[in-house]
Amino acid sequence: MKRSIVLFFVSLLAVAHVHAQDEYYFGGRGSLNPDIPTPESFFGFRIGTALVRYDKVVEYFKLLADKSDRASLQVFGKSWEDREQVKLFVTSPDNQRNLENIRQEHIKLADPSASVATSGQKVIVELAYNVHGGEIAGTDASVLVAYYLVASEDPDIVRRLNDAVVLIEPSQNPDGRERAANYINGFHSWPPIADPADVEHGSGVTPHRGNHFWNDLNRDWLALAQIESRNRVAFYHKWYPNVYLDFHEMGSSSTYYFEPSPLTTWNKILPKSNYEVLNAILAKHFSASLNSIGSLYYTKESFTNLSPIYGSTYPDYQGGVGTTLEVGSTSGVVIETAAGLRPFSKNLRDNFLISIAAVRAATDEKDTFLKHQQEFFKSALTQADKLATKYIVFGSKTDKSLNNLFLEHLLQHHIDVYELTASFSQDDKTFEAGSAYVVPLRQPQFRVLQSIFEENETNGFSDTTTFYDISAWSTVHGYGIPFVKVKTAVKEGPQLTQVPAVAGSVTARSELAYAFDYFDYLTPKALYYLQDHGVKARVAQRPFTSKTSVGDKSFVAGSIVIPVAYQSLSSDELYTLLNEAAKLANVTVYAISDGFSVAGIDLGSNNIRVLKKPAVAAITGGNWTSIGELWALLGNTHHIPLVKITPQSAERVDLSNYTSIILSGGQLSPELSRRLTDWVENGGTLIALSGAAQWASSLATPAPAGGGRGNQRGTSTADTTDAAASTTAQRGRGGLGGNGGSRLNGIIVHAELNLSHPLAYGFTSKDFYTLKNSTSGLRQTGSSNVVLKTTTGELVNGYATPEALSELTDNVVIASATRGRGSIVIFGESPTFRGYWLAPGRILTNAIFFGGGSGNR
Ligand SMILES: [Zn+2]
Repeated sequence: MKRSIVLFFVSLLAVAHVHAQDEYYFGGRGSLNPDIPTPESFFGFRIGTALVRYDKVVEYFKLLADKSDRASLQVFGKSWEDREQVKLFVTSPDNQRNLENIRQEHIKLADPSASVATSGQKVIVELAYNVHGGEIAGTDASVLVAYYLVASEDPDIVRRLNDAVVLIEPSQNPDGRERAANYINGFHSWPPIADPADVEHGSGVTPHRGNHFWNDLNRDWLALAQIESRNRVAFYHKWYPNVYLDFHEMGSSSTYYFEPSPLTTWNKILPKSNYEVLNAILAKHFSASLNSIGSLYYTKESFTNLSPIYGSTYPDYQGGVGTTLEVGSTSGVVIETAAGLRPFSKNLRDNFLISIAAVRAATDEKDTFLKHQQEFFKSALTQADKLATKYIVFGSKTDKSLNNLFLEHLLQHHIDVYELTASFSQDDKTFEAGSAYVVPLRQPQFRVLQSIFEENETNGFSDTTTFYDISAWSTVHGYGIPFVKVKTAVKEGPQLTQVPAVAGSVTARSELAYAFDYFDYLTPKALYYLQDHGVKARVAQRPFTSKTSVGDKSFVAGSIVIPVAYQSLSSDELYTLLNEAAKLANVTVYAISDGFSVAGIDLGSNNIRVLKKPAVAAITGGNWTSIGELWALLGNTHHIPLVKITPQSAERVDLSNYTSIILSGGQLSPELSRRLTDWVENGGTLIALSGAAQWASSLATPAPAGGGRGNQRGTSTADTTDAAASTTAQRGRGGLGGNGGSRLNGIIVHAELNLSHPLAYGFTSKDFYTLKNSTSGLRQTGSSNVVLKTTTGELVNGYATPEALSELTDNVVIASATRGRGSIVIFGESPTFRGYWLAPGRILTNAIFFGGGSGNR
């Protein structure tokens, strides 16, 4: 092997003369404008011999826009780590001058009421790279593509740029890309090391794949839990690309993959022409390109088009065609594989040719793509008409923040939402004007709307459907917002153009005490804000009714009480802080005028318990995706710091600094196990995610609280790679195609919340949904308290075999137990799956503030 590495490196050097790069990547493709700076001259090395830095790519794209009248650059957002998200627009100089008109004409295709000819329109091609940070051949290829399309003097390219507007996004995940590039460049050797065992081909403490919170941005297109996705989808709806290329990498030994994906992974809500016509056009051009350089590839055997959660599928739900491209990974500049040496530059060349092929395909068949899009949005209306449901009414009477978060979610997808004008009741649920909304199914965005509310009405799953990921991606169930599907007409009020403004307030000054409800989704943020500023808060464990500045007001268990005395702050300071906290969380803080309650317990009752300010740590057990979800929930949403400690450090640090410790999984050393046990017995709240459920349940004495067998078929939060996922899919060819046996794929079932438990504070209904990733539940034993369990195993959304569903009756999902002075809370499923399962996240924040004890009710 060593000799071949040396030979390879020598051959790289041998071709390192001025035009080597042009020849390898652009050979035989016409002359290039010498006024346009080459990537090599700008970056200072030949593309493919190291990884380009993301900030330098943005700088290079700005330079191209500056030097050429074919290029312009738009910054459409910033990542969590403040990197610019950019698109380079490449098209003819005439089109550049006319870009806004082109866009205005183009978006008429997404309006079924507009009649517009497609013939004069431009086709929109988007090339989007590197959504997974460690799948590195995207961003570097984007540099080659951008340069070539801007500099090429080939009359064929010049002509095509009259017909197309090409959008190039060098990385859909700038933070993950930069993490990978810094890591890989940091371990780069001269000569390069192809041995896959070398540290260069691995990853650092955290995986390269996700964004700042290790969230998989390729599964966030519907949920939009991450800022990068929200920015991207906002931009998407300004342009509605006809062709969208989404570049990935798979196992090192694999060749190249492009769609069509298997027929068993298509969602029946999409028009067949997407698969049969558009993907066929692309495949014809992709194959010709790779044939021309002898690159091998495969199609139809893996990957999926079932749901709009991916970058390669959301476009399918917008009248375009999205396509997954996968190339065997090098995770460095060269890697030894079973098929021989794979140089990074070879991957870049494949990706370059595929990118140019997409421009050819789109311009050759421009009218086909444009007409498909126009027809797509027209057929959305007729497809909606076929459903029995005509309207959906939703909204929470007690939780304005949840309403607003969900409204924002719908508006981000350009779904038409209207105010509800009069109270409406159905299925034992009542909705009131002012806190509820109505969406008609008959609208251009019907298909995305239906995905958000899907309950197996339209996905067309059968036992021959092949699943690559969860089979239930609807978001409404994760938000936990009340809704009903209505078969009759519902009167629509004014259309919402933006989320309604809401603001909390304090009703008056009090010299005695204040109290507020715990219903609003953002209340934990307000509570922590107060505690962090030195306010001593208490929680009511029983209901009471007090005289307040606005009359008698009833408070349920879980309400927060803040006496004015007993503080180290002045009455003025407290009042100011309460006003600030109220605004953070849309809560009304009531000024209480009498400690003797009108009903229920008095303000001085022992059942109004003093709360400790939470100090939360997570012990990282390798499952960074789970940690990232919690970090985003606590840190970003509620501004509660999450200290992340490695298991090694946890053996040394003083655990008594923390009130709650989250255990995500992995093996515990005997020392850490002993320390955690002591810490719980001394009053800590241990929060165990499913990977740590087994150990945590052993702590719950005298009888174990749980003992989940853990995820049998992890589809969800594991740090998967495309390679691993593709292996699963390939296994599916053999046997999984028929979904036999006891099998489920990330389904949603009904569950019941134990409203008498302190972990249910803030909830008003026991009706709950849970996402099940396996049939196993937590074992229920004598001393443990069930917080959440499935009911009859009735399937709400997704695919499972009847055998699997039969195992889901009374399946415990969240349980708690006490040990010594502390408590243990075990989550059998993720508390905040991919950041959009908001409802179980509330149970997690309750555990942090109130502990997992059974309370005193
Ligand atoms: Zn990928």
